[in-house]
Amino acid sequence: MPGPRVGGLAPLTTIDFPGRLAAVVFFQGCPWRCVYCHNPHLIPANAPPALAWEDALAFLERRRGLLDGVVFSGGEPTLQAALPEAMREVRALGFQVALHTAGMYPERLAAVLPLVDWVGLDIKAPRAAYPRITGAPCAGDAVFESLSLILAAGVEHELRCTWPPRLLSSTDLARLDDELRAMGADRLVIQECRAAGRASALPGTCRADPDWAGATELAGRYHNPGPRSAG
Ligand code: SF4
Repeated sequence: MPGPRVGGLAPLTTIDFPGRLAAVVFFQGCPWRCVYCHNPHLIPANAPPALAWEDALAFLERRRGLLDGVVFSGGEPTLQAALPEAMREVRALGFQVALHTAGMYPERLAAVLPLVDWVGLDIKAPRAAYPRITGAPCAGDAVFESLSLILAAGVEHELRCTWPPRLLSSTDLARLDDELRAMGADRLVIQECRAAGRASALPGTCRADPDWAGATELAGRYHNPGPRSAG
């Protein structure tokens, strides 16, 4: 099987894999078109790779003993069939593994969960509102199935909701709260949607929005310090 298509590599992060120093490998390709996507250059699945997988592995080999882990991000890493083998190779170098995913492929997620130490799952909206954000019909059903798998596996995780206030109202957030609590999920972080790098402009500023207080209150119920900036 050909190696993964890599869209980029960040040599050091202190925030993308909680409690660990890590590098981030960005996988190329995503089937969705989220209105606020901060990595639109990673969406085309067949774009030329930014670097070869072998070069990424060689870089990681030189970071053994200096980094704790490697984050697989994107794009959508589970889009690529090469992900499980790539994770095995990284583990064989002695690194812990984190996965950033939007959860649109629950079966592929299930296949890699045993290889993962931490998952950051994007929760973009309450189930019924997913098409509004992603442009993909029925997207919410797959994501909530992925969330069930993560909760059942007991893997360390964080749920992240990037909140575009003109597209998700406080009523939507309350519905999301209900849906997450019904599943027993309690690790939600609300991230402020920022204009920089966004694929399509949204009007307004988040902090001035009347629903900002509602988002802050919701974040507080999940024992997080409050909405935080994304991207
Ligand atoms: S935000 Fe994530 S899931 Fe949405 S289009 Fe961009 S890479 Fe894909």
